[in-house]
Amino acid sequence: MTKRILTGDRPTGRLHLGHYVGTLSNRVALQSKYEMYISVVDLHSLTDRMDDPQKVKNIPDSVRELVLDYLAVGINPEKTTILLQSAIPEISELFAILMNLVTIARCERLPALKEKIRDQKIQHPSMGLLNYPILMASDILSLRAHLVPVGKDQESHIEFAREIAKTFNRLYKSRPGRDKVNDDEDAKKVFPEPEAIIGEAQTLPGTDGKAKMSKSLNNAIFLSDDERAVEEKVMSMYTDPKRTSASVPGTIEGNPLFIYHEIFNKNISEVEKFAERYRTGDVGDVEVKKALVKALNTFLNPIRFRRKNFEEQKGLIDKVLTEGTKKARVEIQNTLQIVKQSLGLPILSS
Ligand code: ATP
Ligand code: MG
Repeated sequence: MTKRILTGDRPTGRLHLGHYVGTLSNRVALQSKYEMYISVVDLHSLTDRMDDPQKVKNIPDSVRELVLDYLAVGINPEKTTILLQSAIPEISELFAILMNLVTIARCERLPALKEKIRDQKIQHPSMGLLNYPILMASDILSLRAHLVPVGKDQESHIEFAREIAKTFNRLYKSRPGRDKVNDDEDAKKVFPEPEAIIGEAQTLPGTDGKAKMSKSLNNAIFLSDDERAVEEKVMSMYTDPKRTSASVPGTIEGNPLFIYHEIFNKNISEVEKFAERYRTGDVGDVEVKKALVKALNTFLNPIRFRRKNFEEQKGLIDKVLTEGTKKARVEIQNTLQIVKQSLGLPILSS
């Protein structure tokens, strides 16, 4: 049996080079080996912005940009099912059920949630924010996904979803063909117990030299940036601050200029020569930056080309999302049916 993978993104804006390095390139590779689903988790977007209607208003545009970015980098809707979370009410239904298996204290202990509350200085976290790991578990379990590729920081959330699945499976059994004797314990499990695939990918630093490229830090190069935008961002990028002139020997390690060159410049010997000249104080930042502009544009051009092409196909994004959502919903409705049967909730004849 081909294992099922679920990943997702909050529609909060366009994707950048950090996303490409950290997750998108991996997803493109995985879609050929697994049964792949990507959920556009718009309900998750609400968890930290519902007090700002303008931000909420931007969600539909962000959904569109997100799906365009997926297609542009090579996510293929023939292989990957792209679904819209809010259009599948059964996910929220499962959320309402699973919530009862989790204590408030357990949610409060989740490291990624704690960090978010701390980093974003959220004084009074809403119930929605506190519950978002349960909503995430509902995304995973409703689709009966086996594997969830995430960064190290998100590992605790998958462990949490696994815990919920185990607890549910222990307390309630699936009842396929109730009159048949079925000794197979696995077949009685309502939920597969999901596992995280922890990515080895590095974190791409921002153009300002901060450890992480992030759209909220305003230090990102977006996949949809045009050539001019890339040039402006690269030419004003942070490099080795000790270099006051081209003749001052510079540091390569941890220097975003060289980190980007190493990842995106396919001309390896050019990068090696620059590195050598930089170390010995034999090249100006401007020359190395200009070469990076060229390399990044070479990398981004096919992505831009595909993006434009998809953008011009009227109704395409809608179609991809509608079809993906429809397909996923059938799976999820089936899960809910099993869940309700196993709980013994009354099922009305419609
Ligand atoms: P926001 O500013 O809204 O938090 P962001 O740009 O920081 O957005 P996230 O939503 O935090 O992006 O990122 C989602 C996922 O994308 C991360 O879990 C990680 O896998 C990947 N990712 C994001 N930024 C980077 C980066 N700079 N390097 C590597 N991976 C990244
Ligand atoms: Mg972030």
